[in-house]
Amino acid sequence: MLHASKITERTQHFLDLEEQYGAHNYHPLPVVLSRGEGVFLWDVDGKRYYDFLSGYSAVNQGHCHPTIIRALIEQAQKLTLTSRAFHSDLLGEYAAFITDFFGYDKVLPMNTGVEAVETALKLCRRWGYAVKGIPENQAKIIVCANNFHGRTLNVISFSTDPSSRTDFGPFMPGYEVIPYNNLPALEKALQDKNVAGFLVEPIQGEAGVMVPDDGYLSKARQYCEDADVLFIADEIQTGLARTGKMLCCDHENVRPDILILGKALSGGTLPVAAVLADDEIMLTIKPGEHGSTYGGNPLACKVAIAALTVLKEENMVENAAAMGELLRQELKALQSPHISTVRGKGLLNAIVIQHTHPEAAWDLCLALKENGLLAKPTHGDKIRFAPPLLITAAQIREAVQIIAKSLETL
Ligand code: PLP
Repeated sequence: MLHASKITERTQHFLDLEEQYGAHNYHPLPVVLSRGEGVFLWDVDGKRYYDFLSGYSAVNQGHCHPTIIRALIEQAQKLTLTSRAFHSDLLGEYAAFITDFFGYDKVLPMNTGVEAVETALKLCRRWGYAVKGIPENQAKIIVCANNFHGRTLNVISFSTDPSSRTDFGPFMPGYEVIPYNNLPALEKALQDKNVAGFLVEPIQGEAGVMVPDDGYLSKARQYCEDADVLFIADEIQTGLARTGKMLCCDHENVRPDILILGKALSGGTLPVAAVLADDEIMLTIKPGEHGSTYGGNPLACKVAIAALTVLKEENMVENAAAMGELLRQELKALQSPHISTVRGKGLLNAIVIQHTHPEAAWDLCLALKENGLLAKPTHGDKIRFAPPLLITAAQIREAVQIIAKSLETL
């Protein structure tokens, strides 16, 4: 490694605490953060960084966005949780707001992204039996290789990543994995009459920002419609302005039958996720058949309305599209021998590192950290560049300079 990471005693203290008392289920960069504002983060030593991960796209609106934080604080002082045993004066308002925002009949509110995925899968199966008429326990859902939809036992049952699955079996049946961005494979899988749904990420984020061919989503959607199969879009990472449209599916004018949102639905303040669908699907689930203590709590409702309002009022869709173009242009202009690919849409981007050694991407991230920019490798040689959506052109250029300088250390 050419670039030694400098770690202060203060930082080491926090690293040691986590190492000793926290489960070792992550491998973070050795940086300890204590403050965030807009596109910037500060560590415990007061050093400032560009945030080029945005909490895996949970912080699209920027860190501690004042409008979202105001909504959070004001609501926290009034009412935070009722459970769904009772009504609150915010759930109806939020449901009306978000269904109008995305154009669906109904919303089912959840907390983390994977819970929303689970909810969508349950809804899909239920619809398969109640509406499509699939024989009992025969429903199948088609998913894509190299997917990432979260970490529950059901969801990892159809993961193809050994690090997600190994020694966690036995797995849930009822899924068929087909290659991503492969329409003939989808067409073939859809011939089975027991297929109830097709679950897909419009861009595979965790897999390394794999952008499918133009027309893939719209054709896949059409194939599903023709086969009486629900098209389920996991927009947890790609949605909410990240790719330069409010939803990534909007790039192809695709309206999913079931839309899954999470992450930036709260602007990085608390876990808020949602499943949207029309009545034919949503009303197949009856009282007592699904739920969550925190799902749809008043605090989440208030914060989600603010988070969505900020995206729209501050033109984050347009800015993500324009700044994404600029970022890719500037990265390509570096003509670095260490970058084999620059790809992405809007501000969901990745570079693929030309292997000099297996740890090259990790080393580059350490160098980036030293130079004031935080990013994280995914699947070995890929690094995602996904800053908050309020980033300016001047900031993009400064960040690219940091990337250029860091590449020289490889
Ligand atoms: N789906 C996608 C596409 C994701 O990117 C993620 C998280 O990275 C999830 C689901 C899971 O969300 P959560 O970590 O909130 O459970």
